[in-house]
Amino acid sequence: MKDESLRDRFNRVRGHCTNMNDMTKQVDEIMANARKIVGAIREKHGVGNDYVPKKDIVGSVPCPVCKKGTMAYSISSYNGHRHAQCSENCFGYYCE
Ligand SMILES: [Zn+2]
Repeated sequence: MKDESLRDRFNRVRGHCTNMNDMTKQVDEIMANARKIVGAIREKHGVGNDYVPKKDIVGSVPCPVCKKGTMAYSISSYNGHRHAQCSENCFGYYCE
């Protein structure tokens, strides 16, 4: 087997991965949604991303992503992890 140049290899591998741009777009979208979700929780409770409450916080706000559904969320008193889901399921299940 002859040596393959880096560029040849890149082109070969990329051929199997034509969705790269779509993936980048999806990641951007997910990050933008995450900012909206975390932002909405922060607005409601006035707490930052690393805030760990003494008791679990559970609540709901109008969905900041689709603006149609209701976003239910919780903040764990164990590790501060946020979980959120929209009643319209517009962004799937968010957790961090
Ligand atoms: Zn939604």
